[in-house]
Amino acid sequence: MNQSENLDPKDWDEMKKLAHVMIDDAFSYLQNRREDPVWRQMPEEIRKNFKSSIPRAPTSPNEVYDSFKADVLPYPMGNTHPRFWAWYMGNGTVMGALGDFLTSIISPNAGAGNHVGQELEDQVIEWMKEIMEYPKDASGILVSGGSMANFVGLAVARNQKAGFDVRQEGLSNKAPMAVYASTEVHSCNQKAIELLGLGAEYLRKIPVNHDFTINIEILKNQIEKDKVNGILPLCIIANAGTVNTGAIDDLSSIEEICRQENLWFHVDGAIGALAVLSPLAKEKLKGIEKSDSVAMDLHKWLHVPFEAACVLVRNRESHRSTFALTPEYLMQYEKGLASGKNWYSEYGLQLSRRLNALKIWMSIKEHGIEKYGRMISKNINQAYYLKSLVDQGNHLELMAPVGMDIVCYRYNPGKLSVEQLNQLNTKILIEMHESGVAVPSYTTLRGNYCIRVAIANHRSINSDFDLLIRKTLEFGEKFNTFV
Ligand SMILES: *Cc1c(COP(=O)(O)O)cnc(C)c1O
Repeated sequence: MNQSENLDPKDWDEMKKLAHVMIDDAFSYLQNRREDPVWRQMPEEIRKNFKSSIPRAPTSPNEVYDSFKADVLPYPMGNTHPRFWAWYMGNGTVMGALGDFLTSIISPNAGAGNHVGQELEDQVIEWMKEIMEYPKDASGILVSGGSMANFVGLAVARNQKAGFDVRQEGLSNKAPMAVYASTEVHSCNQKAIELLGLGAEYLRKIPVNHDFTINIEILKNQIEKDKVNGILPLCIIANAGTVNTGAIDDLSSIEEICRQENLWFHVDGAIGALAVLSPLAKEKLKGIEKSDSVAMDLHKWLHVPFEAACVLVRNRESHRSTFALTPEYLMQYEKGLASGKNWYSEYGLQLSRRLNALKIWMSIKEHGIEKYGRMISKNINQAYYLKSLVDQGNHLELMAPVGMDIVCYRYNPGKLSVEQLNQLNTKILIEMHESGVAVPSYTTLRGNYCIRVAIANHRSINSDFDLLIRKTLEFGEKFNTFV
């Protein structure tokens, strides 16, 4: 065997040159993003390039990069664009991207060991606790996204409130246990409940008020009813920003019920937890600081490149005792690389983990947290600006109160049935995507199809919403074949 063969570049200087080109191209791409279509359909002849058999022989680095430029770069999801408002996601940042690159350069395993990764993650968790006004001795962990953050929080909730050793005994032959949330709760919470063995029917979906917040009276009644029927209430999941409309549940009332009934108070703050940084939302989020656990998505309103999220747990021991399992080969020593305490693998499902803390740490240092607060305020103001355009416009209808930064509206020229309106607005949305003008998404509220504009975008400016409305009216008129 050739002992000098390895996976490093054959020619480091050539690779450095190529890397400089990549950085120049990448930054120019972001700088000029506004001029591109938000999204474009990948042509079939390009799609074919992703159906090859596995390469056996080498390709030169320059050719690999050429394939990226031709086949990958023109067809991303589009969420770096100033007019991307679909589902709910951030834009990424330049420093975040560089942090991702440098993370891969040092390529540590953030699950275990005595190395700088532990310090970085500890620091980022401390910062998140500071933002959320959590106690000093609370714990937390960085995870891939809101789904995993909710899963971790709900796993701790189950194990703490079941009243027996769930890890040891399992759930068979036990009385059912119930978790409560509004009908607006994000589907990832149901997946978590299913995977935790509780059963989807025991995720009690409580009806909402006119503003899409949970109905507290019905919630209380359901808890009473379950207790009478021998079902053990475990936890309430409060929404801090629902995915449909951005509604924030009455967190203080939910906290009060949790304390009275000895329930775990979990907050799905994937959208709204970070909005405590904005004076426009802070008051509405009062009570979030008293939760037992909170899920926060950092690839949403903090704009860290995917993936980045965090869960905080008020009681460190309850968090650790849900996940820690230490076999011989993971024993921690007093000294050396295998020393250190509180390895993050003891606070979540993953053993090997990417070091997501570095890009978050670099991003927050670069801008300072106050600037992120201003970006959140800007988006909330833009939601009210868009609402005012809808309110003023002819043939436009606001479909839900603006909870925070999400606007649901539809084109409604009058005299059409619900079914016709749903069809017409679906066509408008698809045309919006295919023309590359803007990418909002969609939802259905009380049977009515809506164009849904979720504004977590640090690059949007007010005139982007003017264009959205102009195009809505233009496409609406064009596709209204019902009259
Ligand atoms: C996005 C979202 C989630 C899921 O988070 P991911 O990061 O996509 O896993 C959960 N809850 C709410 C309210 C969300 O908006």
